[in-house]
Amino acid sequence: ITLKAPYEIDLKDVHYTYPKTDKEILHGLNLTIKNGEKLAILGRSGAGKSTLASLLRGDRTPDSGSITLNGISTDQFGNQIANYFSIINQNPYLFNTTIGNNLRLGNEDATDDQLWDVLRRVGLDQMVEKLPQGLETEVDEAGLRFSGGERHRLALARILLKDTPIVLLDEPTVGLDPITEQAVIDTFMTQLKGKTLIWITHHLQGIDQMDQVIFLEDGKIYMQGSPKEL
Ligand code: ATP
Ligand code: MG
Repeated sequence: ITLKAPYEIDLKDVHYTYPKTDKEILHGLNLTIKNGEKLAILGRSGAGKSTLASLLRGDRTPDSGSITLNGISTDQFGNQIANYFSIINQNPYLFNTTIGNNLRLGNEDATDDQLWDVLRRVGLDQMVEKLPQGLETEVDEAGLRFSGGERHRLALARILLKDTPIVLLDEPTVGLDPITEQAVIDTFMTQLKGKTLIWITHHLQGIDQMDQVIFLEDGKIYMQGSPKEL
């Protein structure tokens, strides 16, 4: 599957029930996400936000209705969806290998120059320069030697290397203090300019920088508009 810009995501009357359960979680969602749009998905715990994220990425198939990227069902892409979508979840995971290898998960052919470039873009170049072995420094204990904000920035650096047109962030700044959170949000916004950004969040910080906001409640969209309208 080869798609070209502009990339448009379209949801039509999407219903979803988890397998082996009888409780419908999403009850008929309609939504269009335009190329380059910044969309925030707000809603309380259990509202169905992460469920929607997995459907958007094609990991799950709606019971009825459709989710398409440029007219093709997202569940038809298989592994190729990774060419178009990248995701950061809360508590981004770092593997027990070097920083360079962690970043190259985004693009295994990236040169050291490219790694330094993305580190600079996320504001981590000076920190990594100070480490004993730079890019070759081992990330101990699944990244615990990095602070929350640093791990989020490394995850973003990985996504920048991957350079997909659509980025989905599922509560990517959970657990950060408000000042670090705002700094991470600002870096995301600047560095992902031009890309489609879907931002799932519990709270309102950073919302005014988005083009469209939807509130999900009990598996339905009950408010939708620009931040100014809401
Ligand atoms: P949070 O803000 O806490 O992350 P959320 O809005 O992301 O919440 P979801 O994780 O999408 O909510 O969950 C929506 C509903 O689906 C919840 O009632 C949850 O219990 C149920 N659910 C989530 N994952 C599964 C699963 N794998 N199997 C069955 N039910 C699930
Ligand atoms: Mg969730």
